[in-house]
Amino acid sequence: MQILFVPDPRLSYQGLARDNVRLPLRDDQVIRHFIRVSELIVQVMNRGERISQYGHVSVPAHEIVPLQEACAFLGTSLVSGLRDHDLCLCESGNKYKRCHGRGWSSVLGA
Ligand SMILES: [Zn+2]
Repeated sequence: MQILFVPDPRLSYQGLARDNVRLPLRDDQVIRHFIRVSELIVQVMNRGERISQYGHVSVPAHEIVPLQEACAFLGTSLVSGLRDHDLCLCESGNKYKRCHGRGWSSVLGA
């Protein structure tokens, strides 16, 4: 897994958190899911009045824990080199796209 951070000189800090723009370097469901869950975590962390809070931000567990679990699983999958056509990391014996690749719909809203 490779991540490249590139600053955008067109943007300036306006006092509120701004999410990163995440672009996959190849078309793969595992990568798309990781990007989606990363975006959702930022959205949850900045929902409502939390957008202006810094440092320790309290987030209800039911909002963030499923996303953190999905992010950890997907991150581990990517570091392991797993792609959507490979056997799922959970060792079910099914390909990712037919196992956890389907199972994230309640978390990712997709
Ligand atoms: Zn699985």
